[in-house]
Amino acid sequence: MIQKLPKAVRQLVEKFERLPGIGPKSAQRLVFYLLHNPQHELAEFAERLVALHRDTKTCSICHYVAESDPCPICEDQNRDTSQLCVVEQPLDVMAIERSDRYHGRYHVLHGAISPLNNIGPDQLYLRDILKRLGEVSELIIATNPTMEGEATALYLTELIKKSSQIDQDLLKITRIGHGLPVGADIEYADGVTLARALDGRRAM
Ligand code: ZN
Repeated sequence: MIQKLPKAVRQLVEKFERLPGIGPKSAQRLVFYLLHNPQHELAEFAERLVALHRDTKTCSICHYVAESDPCPICEDQNRDTSQLCVVEQPLDVMAIERSDRYHGRYHVLHGAISPLNNIGPDQLYLRDILKRLGEVSELIIATNPTMEGEATALYLTELIKKSSQIDQDLLKITRIGHGLPVGADIEYADGVTLARALDGRRAM
């Protein structure tokens, strides 16, 4: 009879397997690595996991993840409110901030449209952008240059162009792209590349 792993091990392996990029073998390796750690280290690790949701807030305006709601970027009076930059993930905000080329506000979608993964517009913070366009003269779409990111950019552009609440003559919609390799992740782009991509944005 094949010996089963202890339940505590199996259950934790299952949790690790659900993480992106972690297969069954890696999940087992991680669990056995943790097993070699002293109990107090593991307790601290568990406490950090619990604090992740408890001690963070998703900004109710831009949906960036911060310690306060509204987030510091939405609260910052020195930000240029005429520009709004749409990104897929909170980490993309950090990447664009590093480029030091953009001083407007953000809107974080928390993903991109992906029919293969059952992610449609309603699973994203897409429609509430319309409410934020009042004083915006340029909407910069900085979703990833991937199939999903492009589909999302097109959907958003259509959504805005169809909206009767928005004065189309006063709003310019642009897309960054220049210099970013196709299929790349904005999150991993360096500041110089992103600054170039921002400079070379084109009208949608
Ligand atoms: Zn915010």
